[in-house]
Amino acid sequence: MNKVNSDDTAKRAWPAIWRGVKCKCPNCGKGWLFHHYLEQHDNCAVCGEPLAYYKAGLFLPFVVVTLVIHLVAFFMLDMELRGGASPLFYLYVLVPLTVVFTVGILPSSKGAILGLMWSKGWSDEQDR
Ligand SMILES: [Zn+2]
Repeated sequence: MNKVNSDDTAKRAWPAIWRGVKCKCPNCGKGWLFHHYLEQHDNCAVCGEPLAYYKAGLFLPFVVVTLVIHLVAFFMLDMELRGGASPLFYLYVLVPLTVVFTVGILPSSKGAILGLMWSKGWSDEQDR
């Protein structure tokens, strides 16, 4: 196993979070974090870092909903302050935009959370 950051003190949060945003391994930044859509690899294919013990859990929907609500609320408030929009506009534009945005940011959000958890050592490895 070729670990880049074998020392726990070398695990800095922001580089790991940024690698997670790019859906890459928080340790080496080269191996893919996920296979399929949101299913994370058990180990990094490049450095062998164990990734299966990091679970985003309910923090993932919290982060995604917070981001999506802020974006959608900004558009809705802006439209209302400009005189309002048709309810059909909300139905045909904002609802699909919300779904697409949510689906689009899910992997990066989960990667960022896993990067943060990896850098802080918040895993359930000791429970096994
Ligand atoms: Zn790796």
